[in-house]
Amino acid sequence: MSGSPAEAMARLDERISRCRRCPRLVAWREQAAREKRPAYADQDYWGRPVPGFGPADARILLVGLAPAAHGANRTGRMFTGDRSGDWLFASLHRVGLANQAESVGVGDGMRLREVRMAAPVRCAPPANKPTPTERANCAPWLDRELAILAPTLRVVIALGAIGWQAALDALARAGWEVPRPRPRFAHGAEVALARSARPGRRRAGHDLVLLGCFHPSPHNTFTGRLTEPMTDEVLGRAREIAERMGR
Ligand code: SF4
Repeated sequence: MSGSPAEAMARLDERISRCRRCPRLVAWREQAAREKRPAYADQDYWGRPVPGFGPADARILLVGLAPAAHGANRTGRMFTGDRSGDWLFASLHRVGLANQAESVGVGDGMRLREVRMAAPVRCAPPANKPTPTERANCAPWLDRELAILAPTLRVVIALGAIGWQAALDALARAGWEVPRPRPRFAHGAEVALARSARPGRRRAGHDLVLLGCFHPSPHNTFTGRLTEPMTDEVLGRAREIAERMGR
């Protein structure tokens, strides 16, 4: 990696946004961008893979699932443009990790503090369900993002069981020691991961903590399975751990 983390991340973001590795997802993201939802008929959709959002030297990484066809696939910013994202950004703001409560799109002034958001699949999938092959195709992008973040990363927040599995897979590939049997996902679950000390294994950055949070999908928030205080508790805990562990 050459240049500063911000330069390396900008290069990575640009490469991700040009990826066409998954024919089914390329067709789906572009179809959604062409046909549009009536409420957004006057908007230009992004219609491409969605890079991560947030500083390249963040101490917290938030891992979701994949962009929504009329959310991030429309705005081009991770978690921006749908109800899940609205919920998440409002919580990030309440716990002091974002400078404003609403993320609308490029130019809205939104800045995350110490948090980067990413997804294990960067293109909107039909029915929000990427195939195993599509997940495998996209994994190297998250690996590269983790490699840039590794020197400063202290906390990973996984949204939902799928985000949890994807985060554990990526952290193991990056050189963190994932316990066996694998820790199970739960809201509020907290697992300490040590950087690898095994000879011959790649060494990750520092020890870190993986936190589980229910995905803020309408299915969870409308039913009360995930409340605002529950979300704030996990995100606030992430901030507390990151500050305690320092740089
Ligand atoms: S899902 Fe990932 S690997 Fe597949 S086309 Fe999109 S960015 Fe590329």
